[in-house]
Order: sequence, then C-alpha cells, then structure tokens
Amino acid sequence: MTNVTPIELIVTCVGSGDAFHSGGRLHSCYHLTWGEAQFLLDCGASSPAGFMRCGIHADQLDVVIVSHLHGDHFGGIPYLLLAGKYLHRRTRPLLCIGPEGLQQRVEQVFNALYPGVLADGLGFAVTYRVLDSAAAVAVQGARISCVPVVHGGGAQAFGIRVEIGGRSVSYSGDTEWTEQLPLLAQGSDLFVCECFSYDQPTPGHLDYVTLLREKERFSTQRLVLSHLGPQLLERADQLELELLYDGARLWL
Ligand SMILES: [Zn+2]
Repeated sequence: MTNVTPIELIVTCVGSGDAFHSGGRLHSCYHLTWGEAQFLLDCGASSPAGFMRCGIHADQLDVVIVSHLHGDHFGGIPYLLLAGKYLHRRTRPLLCIGPEGLQQRVEQVFNALYPGVLADGLGFAVTYRVLDSAAAVAVQGARISCVPVVHGGGAQAFGIRVEIGGRSVSYSGDTEWTEQLPLLAQGSDLFVCECFSYDQPTPGHLDYVTLLREKERFSTQRLVLSHLGPQLLERADQLELELLYDGARLWL
C-alpha cells in the first residue's frame, strides 16, 4: 500500500482591510488553491497590488467569487480584466460568481474608468454566474454555496462557503450579526469572519465584543477575523481572537 500525501488547501489573505484601507491594509481578498484549482474570494479595488505582493499570478486565476457589490469587495475585477488584456495577454477564460447584477456593476465601473476597452474586446471570455442560496454551484472540483447576510451593496449580500478536497472554508463577507453565521461556519476547517469595530455598533458590520460573546457557536476548526477597522486595530495586540493580516498563508 502506498501512502499518498493529501493535497493541502492553501488560503492566502491578500487583503484584510476595511473599505478605508485602515492600518494600510488592502481591501478584502482571499486566494484559495487546491492542486491546480485557484479561486478568489472577493477582489476589492486594491487587490491587484496584493497579488503582486503575495506572488499570485493573476493570469492563472479561473474563478472569482464575490460576496457583495461594494467596491472593497469587487472593485478589483475591472483591473484584473485590464491586466488580463494588456499585461498578461490572457486567453484563459474567467468565471465571476456573485450577486445578481455583478456583471452590470463590473462593466459600469470598467467603462467609467477605461472607456471603450470592453467594447474593443478583452481577448478572453468572462462569464458570470449568479449566487443563489437555494442552489450550490459546482466548479473546478469545488462546491460553492452561500447564505444571505445583512449588508448593503444594492443587491443581496452573501456569506460564502467553498468545499474542496474534503476541506471547507467559510467566509462571512460583510454583515451585522445574523443567525446564518453559525450555520455558515458549521464544521468548517476555517471561518474567516469580518470584524470591523471593537464594540462600536456599525450598521451592516460586526464588532469584536459580539463575536467574543458568540464564538462558542462557531463549530469551526479555526476562527480568524478580518476586514479590520480603526477602532479594532487600536486594540490589535490585546485581543484573544486571531486576526488575519495581509500576506498571511494558512494550510488546511
Ligand atoms: Zn467591506
């Protein structure tokens, strides 16, 4: 009998910051690799700088999953497409999965920033699929499911779960407290949960005191906090729960 080393799921935190780049942190973006498969969970406007810092080859990304339609979560996609056309001469297709309206929002932003480029053609196919909490998506050997969470963006916001190779990563996206969160985290190897403030209630966001109170309800192997705002970062060295940082790499 031969021993086969299982493939690890590697999660790289490209950006752990809030919308304001508090603490100099980049916008939300998490890169997942399992063997040849590569996924992005969110792609905020500053994410392409993070790809370069983390040694991620953006031209090899196949799938981008977007939690909600705010710029610190999807605003990097136009730059990913722009680099695909001019920098990488990309031919590999790209699949973007997200809330209803993702395609229109990406194209509006792209056309505002670089008029005429989309109309000229990118040289590679970009397809879009709509997230639906009633139906998981199977792509590149992964099962991608979602739950509705409580946040803005002009469309339903989602928490996302990616299951691949017997491992699972749950990601809250941006949300205030919802009973969907323990369900999302249930049995996962990693739960990346947003935590914008320490104790200041902020509509559409979570705070540390709430998560500390509720943490036993997350049946995950590892809870990490991200999307860190200024009030939380002031206390970063005094906290019990683990904080992510830009460039962090986790092996599952
Ligand atoms: Zn955000």
